[in-house]
Amino acid sequence: MIPFNKPYLTGKETLYIEDAVKSGKISGNGKYTKLCQDYFQSRYNFKKCLLTTSCTDALEMCAILLNIEPGDEVIIPSYTFVSTALAFVRQGAKIVFADSRADHPGIDENKIEELITNKTKLIIPVHYAGVACDMDKIMAIAGKYNLFVVEDAAQAIDSFYTGADGVKRALGSIGHLSAFSFHETKNIISGEGGMLCINDERFVKRSEIIWEKGTNRAEFFRGEVNKYGWVDTGSSFLPSEIIAAFLWAQIENLDDIQKKRKEIWEQYYNLLKPAELSNNFKLSEIPDYATNNAHMNYLVCNTLEYRADLINRLKSEGILAVFHYLALHKSEFYKEKHDGRELPECDRYADCLLRLPMYYELSKAEMEQIVSVIFEIK
Ligand SMILES: *Cc1c(COP(=O)(O)O)cnc(C)c1O
Repeated sequence: MIPFNKPYLTGKETLYIEDAVKSGKISGNGKYTKLCQDYFQSRYNFKKCLLTTSCTDALEMCAILLNIEPGDEVIIPSYTFVSTALAFVRQGAKIVFADSRADHPGIDENKIEELITNKTKLIIPVHYAGVACDMDKIMAIAGKYNLFVVEDAAQAIDSFYTGADGVKRALGSIGHLSAFSFHETKNIISGEGGMLCINDERFVKRSEIIWEKGTNRAEFFRGEVNKYGWVDTGSSFLPSEIIAAFLWAQIENLDDIQKKRKEIWEQYYNLLKPAELSNNFKLSEIPDYATNNAHMNYLVCNTLEYRADLINRLKSEGILAVFHYLALHKSEFYKEKHDGRELPECDRYADCLLRLPMYYELSKAEMEQIVSVIFEIK
C-alpha cells in the first residue's frame, strides 16, 4: 500500500522530549520554544515568532490582534482550508470570497480590488502548495486602501517570493502577520502545531499578551514589569515544551528534509511530464517570482470524471490519492451568507485537483508505480 502521507521522524524527537520532561519545565515558553522561535526569526527574517498549538490558533490570534469586529469584511480565497475563514468568522467577520488564478489555485490578485468596500479590513493570501501569491500586487492594493495583510503560510515553510525590487523574501515575512502549520501533513511537523509571525512592530507587544491568556506574564519573566496580571483579551495559545522539543528535532533536519522533498518532487514531475501529453490533466506551474518548497505534488484534471476514475484506479492498486477543499462559498456553514457570486476557477480546482502521495520516504519505485497507473488511462 502507498499511503497519501507518512509523517517523517528524524530520530531525535523522543530524545528532546525526554530532555524537556527531565528538565522539570514542560509547560510553554521554555528552552525549546525559544530555540524554535529564535531559529525561525533569524533564518527567515521574521520580526517576532510565537509558537502556537496550530495554524488555526495563529490565525485566531491574528483576528484578535487586528480587532476584527462584527461587520468587518475579510477577503479570502474560497479555495482554501476552513481555518483561513473560520478564525475570522469567530470574531464576527463577514467573509468575502475571491476566486483563484486560472494557472494556480492561489488567490487571483487581479480580482481583489473589485471586492473592496469601506468595511474591508484585510486580505488573506494563502500560499497554496507553498507557492507564493503575487505579493507585490497584494501589498500594493493593501497599501492603497489601508488594509492589513495576513499570509496563510500554513504550507509555505522555507519558500520564497522575489518581488520587483529583486529581493528574495521568505513567505510569511511580507504581510503584517502570518501563520504557519506544523500539522503532520506539512513539511516539518510536531503532530499538531503552528506559529504566528509578526512583521509589523505595532503588534509585537500585544501578541505576547494574547498568547498568554491576556496577561503580561512574558514581560514579567523578562523582568520588564514587577508584577503580572490580566491586561487584555487572549487565550492559551502557546504549546507545551513537549511539542516544541519535537519541532526542534525537525528543525535541525530542515535542510535535509527540504533537499529530499525537492528531489522527490523533481523526479515525480519528470516521470509525470510525458503523461501530460494525454491531455487528461495539467501539472502544477510555479510562477517565476516563486520558489517551490515541494510541499505538494498535484494534478489539475480536465474533468471531474477523469479525476474520479484516476482515484479509483489508484485505489485498486493500493495507492491513496486525495482531493481537497470543497469550495468554502458553497459550504454548508457559509453558503447562505455568501453574496452569490460565481467563482469558476475555485469550482474547477475543487472538482479537478488531485494530490498524489508525497512524503520523505516515498521511493523511486513507488513513484514509478503511481505514474504507471496514470499512464494506463488514455
Ligand atoms: C494545514 C492548513 C491550515 C491549518 O493548519 P492547522 O495547523 O491544522 O491548524 C490552514 N490553512 C491552510 C492553507 C492549511 O493548509
